[in-house]
Amino acid sequence: MKASQFLISTLKEAPSDAEVVSHQLMMRAGMIKKLGAGIYSWMPMGLRVVRKVEAIVREEMNRAGAVELLMPVVQPAEFWQETGRWDKMGPELMRVKDRHERDFIIQPTSEEVVTDIARQELRSYKQLPKNLYHIQTKFRDERRPRFGVMRSREFIMKDAYSFDRDEAAAKASYQVMAKAYRAIFDRFGLRYRAVAADSGAIGGDLSEEFQVIAATGEDAIVYSEGSSYAANMEKAEALAPQGPRPAPAQAIAKTPTPGKSTCADVADLLKVPLATTVKSLVLATDQANDKGEIVKTQVWLLLVRGDHDLNEIKAGKVPGLDATFRFATVGEIVDHFGTKPGYLGPIGLKKPVKIVADREVALMADWICGANEEGFHFTGVNWGRDLPEPDAVADLRNVVAGDMSPDGSGLLAIERGIEIGHIFFLGTKYSAPMKASFLDESGKPQLMQMGCYGIGITRLPAAAIEQNNDERGIIWPDALAPFTVVVCPIGMDRSADVKAAAERLHDDLQAAGIDVMLDDRGERPGAMFADWELIGVPHRVVISDRGLKEGQLEYQHRRDAQATKVPAGEVASFVK
Ligand code: ATP
Ligand code: MG
Ligand code: MG
Ligand code: MG
Repeated sequence: MKASQFLISTLKEAPSDAEVVSHQLMMRAGMIKKLGAGIYSWMPMGLRVVRKVEAIVREEMNRAGAVELLMPVVQPAEFWQETGRWDKMGPELMRVKDRHERDFIIQPTSEEVVTDIARQELRSYKQLPKNLYHIQTKFRDERRPRFGVMRSREFIMKDAYSFDRDEAAAKASYQVMAKAYRAIFDRFGLRYRAVAADSGAIGGDLSEEFQVIAATGEDAIVYSEGSSYAANMEKAEALAPQGPRPAPAQAIAKTPTPGKSTCADVADLLKVPLATTVKSLVLATDQANDKGEIVKTQVWLLLVRGDHDLNEIKAGKVPGLDATFRFATVGEIVDHFGTKPGYLGPIGLKKPVKIVADREVALMADWICGANEEGFHFTGVNWGRDLPEPDAVADLRNVVAGDMSPDGSGLLAIERGIEIGHIFFLGTKYSAPMKASFLDESGKPQLMQMGCYGIGITRLPAAAIEQNNDERGIIWPDALAPFTVVVCPIGMDRSADVKAAAERLHDDLQAAGIDVMLDDRGERPGAMFADWELIGVPHRVVISDRGLKEGQLEYQHRRDAQATKVPAGEVASFVK
């Protein structure tokens, strides 16, 4: 591919609504373009990454014996009424009417349609097992679309559905997918964890999420380093002892009386100097019993975008406060700051905080908060928008770093993850209401046992960037890179030798099956390099007259500090 033919649209600045690094870099590198809230176009550069993700997923799904088909984006409501999801699903399900006033939905997943296919096509035990999948556009009217394509409303998912004759066979099909998912995620070259997830009433333990590890992840993952125990927070909490958790002894000792905390207390507690720039706020409150003993510490984390003067905050003039309220556990705060929980107030932090919790509690009335100023307090703090359910406020996390894992195998640690895949044993949840049965050996109808398996195809590039970036831009793992190597000729318009060498290298690499981009735009070297570093192409070859005189090209990996001289014929071996 030649850059002059391609569409490259890099930006110096990310738009102000881009809160996380992947969103910022995808916008700046011209991978995606926003059309509306949670709705993005995939630009040519970004689409190449999506196609790489799809190709890996397709290959491993096919290898695991799954069969690809394509089901409609727009689906008649009657199938969703059959399973009851038409009523059960809230506003996340996008409903539309056609010209005859008939109801349709834009699919968030495809259990109904695939079960309808199965009940018509899979009539005999001889046709089972089957695993049908597609890679298709989904729409979920997310309450808070954010982080670009990480949580968008329109996105692409790979969803697969297995059909089996009995529970044992269905569980075997689930295990085949569990193995295929590990093969897929290994190939992406990202750090991930497979964690036990809550499967609700059905399925027992047969639900796992695949979480890409990232500080900006919306999910909390609980794991034990010493063993194979790993679960998402919901699952871990379901198994943890319930009821209020006593605050740690040191925290009680260090806790000043609410309303009397000073900035110095807070700074001391957090081990940070008093600063005037607020990038994040930590709010916490202690709940005392009748005797004045603290029984619970609740911590909220308020992320404020950008730099704000303390006076602006005091005056309530910080934009977006109500939009950025988050709930965090005491354990997460302790983990993050390496400090003890206590009575904290808003404080200016040296570095921006990147905790984004997966649960939101929007409002607590009448707080008293310390400020970043000796003796200054807010009273009646009431930031937020939605009134929380009383239970949601009372319901504190019962799992904290340092607890013993439920299987007793080691101490728990907590980290954050991005849910990139989810596999799930369904049993007869859909086959029963839709009467999807087959005839067994004795000619008797039996309900099919199902499983479903999703991968967030368009979420994955964002997750990959959260793990692979630096101050210059994206650093794609080879498996996902839009182009594997970029050839950067210096002075191509002036030097026939450079032009010829660049074109030859481009053609040779292309013939060797390598995804190569030749930057023939005639940009100055600085601007050219900056573009490709932002876009994150992992391998770069620079061709100049000076190098050619020595018979050398300059090779540099995106992570290398310096270029290496290589003979032209050897470039392919560096790239492969
Ligand atoms: P989340 O917890 O992030 O809302 P989910 O559990 O609702 O995801 P699933 O129904 O399990 O999602 O769908 C399978 C996969 O689709 C998820 O693991 C995720 O990778 C992807 N996905 C779900 N919602 C979105 C979204 N709004 N934008 C992009 N990808 C998504
Ligand atoms: Mg969801
Ligand atoms: Mg989820
Ligand atoms: Mg899920």
